Amino acid sequence: MSISQLARSIKESPTLKLNETAARLREKGEPVIHLGGGEPKSKAPIDAIVNCATQLNTGDVKYAPADGLPALKKAIIRYTDEHYNKIVWPDNVVVSSGAKQSIMVALYAILDPKDEVIFPAPYWVSYPEMVKLAGGVPVPVTAEDGSFQPTIEEMAEAVGPYTKAIILNSPNNPCGVMYTKDFVAQVVELCEKKSLYLIMDDLYNRLVFDGKTPPNVYDFAKDDTERSKLIVVQGVSKMYAMTGFRIGWAIANKELCTAMGNIQSHQTSGPATVSQWAAIGALNGVQSSIESLRMTLENNRNVMVERLNAFNGVKVVKPDGTFYCFPDFSAYMKDSQKLAEFLLEKVRVVTVPGKEFGMDGHLRLSFCGTVKDVTEGIERIKWALDPNAPNELYLGERKLVRDWL
Ligand code: PMP
Repeated sequence: MSISQLARSIKESPTLKLNETAARLREKGEPVIHLGGGEPKSKAPIDAIVNCATQLNTGDVKYAPADGLPALKKAIIRYTDEHYNKIVWPDNVVVSSGAKQSIMVALYAILDPKDEVIFPAPYWVSYPEMVKLAGGVPVPVTAEDGSFQPTIEEMAEAVGPYTKAIILNSPNNPCGVMYTKDFVAQVVELCEKKSLYLIMDDLYNRLVFDGKTPPNVYDFAKDDTERSKLIVVQGVSKMYAMTGFRIGWAIANKELCTAMGNIQSHQTSGPATVSQWAAIGALNGVQSSIESLRMTLENNRNVMVERLNAFNGVKVVKPDGTFYCFPDFSAYMKDSQKLAEFLLEKVRVVTVPGKEFGMDGHLRLSFCGTVKDVTEGIERIKWALDPNAPNELYLGERKLVRDWL
């Protein structure tokens, strides 16, 4: 069979694959704990459902403008004013089928062949593959001090003649770390100085803990909206627990938005109108679900970090936000792929290997499930790895006897 070079260069999404593996094992009755997930357990806000259902009941579901329904753009403009203190116009907004498509379409719109895109490691698994899909070259930057935030000098050193853009995701998937205000300000300055695009992936910036506030890139940008190469990406997936609706958006200058809309019009003709109605409901409705999700996640984060800190040899950086923690397990096993496979096989806990995020030796553990999932999941991992743990463990009725270590 003839498969294109491009297709051959693209890896399967490891996180979506893990979901499938977990679902298959569960179907077989295996007591799987899924610490690999990337979506909150809570339901979509009622206002999203009601708005969507009301429109759906009319039976009139037709094409909409490729870059989004005017009513959704209006809601997004209000959101941007309220949360970024930034006034934008409908021509500055492109609504896409998830924040993933927003980033993808932005990359298609800005990259020429071999253009480079820089992002700090650890990074969201999709960035390198998306950059490659758009014909570009991904350039991850790893902090030399082993931390999750490179210095601005390290970022600047990676900039070369082919650099077209930088992507920042803060708080960050997979490590939960929120970059400091200084770092974000310096990256904005670097991009403006070198005339680079800055894609600010803010998808998790409402899910932040310990009373912290996420840096607002617009506070540091000097270029006015139409000259600015800043692209802010947001969406309903995480903050409203609406992953399945597939609605995200980008805010950028008009010229870029037009280019993105044109590309999208030939790709999908725009996001499903049914989902856009739901997003309108969520954005215009009661907002309390975000805070209750945020509080649940903060509590889960505390439980996870506390349990992990009780682990000898595991190094943990307390996440500032998101629903991911990215502990360093290299004292137990350096190859994170092998470690994740081992944990799935021995104790039926799904984790994501750090290798996928550009940092081997780490595992991404999600705390978006129940507290019980978190405590039991970590307990099982500890049992599997800790030589001082008792020799037996019960998974429900099933008795496990350790035949390793
Ligand atoms: N950016 C980051 C950092 C993410 O973690 C995700 C989802 N896992 C996305 C973008 C894409 O979100 P959506 O589901 O809205 O496409």
